[in-house]
Amino acid sequence: MDSRRRALIAGNWKMNGLRAPALALARALAAGVAGGRAARPELVVCPPATVIAAVAEALAGTRIAVGGQDCHVGASGAHTGDLSAEMLADAGASVVIVGHSERRADHGETDQLVAAKAAAAHRAGLAAIVCIGETEAERDRGRTLAVVGGQLAGSLPAGAGPANTVIAYEPVWAIGTGRTPTLAEVAEVHGFLRERLKALQPGWEEMRILYGGSVKPDNARALLAAANVDGALVGGASLKAEDFLAIADSAL
Ligand code: PEP
Repeated sequence: MDSRRRALIAGNWKMNGLRAPALALARALAAGVAGGRAARPELVVCPPATVIAAVAEALAGTRIAVGGQDCHVGASGAHTGDLSAEMLADAGASVVIVGHSERRADHGETDQLVAAKAAAAHRAGLAAIVCIGETEAERDRGRTLAVVGGQLAGSLPAGAGPANTVIAYEPVWAIGTGRTPTLAEVAEVHGFLRERLKALQPGWEEMRILYGGSVKPDNARALLAAANVDGALVGGASLKAEDFLAIADSAL
């Protein structure tokens, strides 16, 4: 990792977390950090929207920031069931994940919509974690770089930059499967994304590029040390305080 980019370890709790266990997890993370764990990276957890405010309150005064998992493009209006970036900020979030592959797959989210959501995040003062990644079929067809390059170009709005935007490269086939690309494959994609960012807009190459997909305590150190990897987006392992802290302890 380039020393100019501080590592970011982000936890995506997905649709997991009733109030009591979510608060217990938040408090366990806070206690770990207070005890000197996870000292190097920046930390963020993204709980379900229903407990963002409670988790933000539990983590107030700690080094752990809170994020949302998605936002609507609008600030308010007739969009039943949706949440705006402004609402997430109001609840205590400072970050939001956009374009996660589960949202792209489950809700048909396009690059254009993801870019609009990232712009909405910026409008509300939130940093956006913009997710991209190829499917297994795309990788098998040798399309990985073409796919992630297209997603990258299409999912970043004007106004994005290293201060308000983080990229998360998450191979779809590695999410929740226990499978990961080889370190050489991770380095290849991250290096490619770094170059593409520079080509898209000089300065964008300073954006952090996280790796996501089955990051666990036993593979985190190697993945986080791969070239051009600036942190991790962690799903399943972020639901256990000890695992998330161990991954964060592995950050350079
Ligand atoms: C994710 O969904 O963002 C993710 C990386 O999940 P997991 O770590 O469980 O593969």
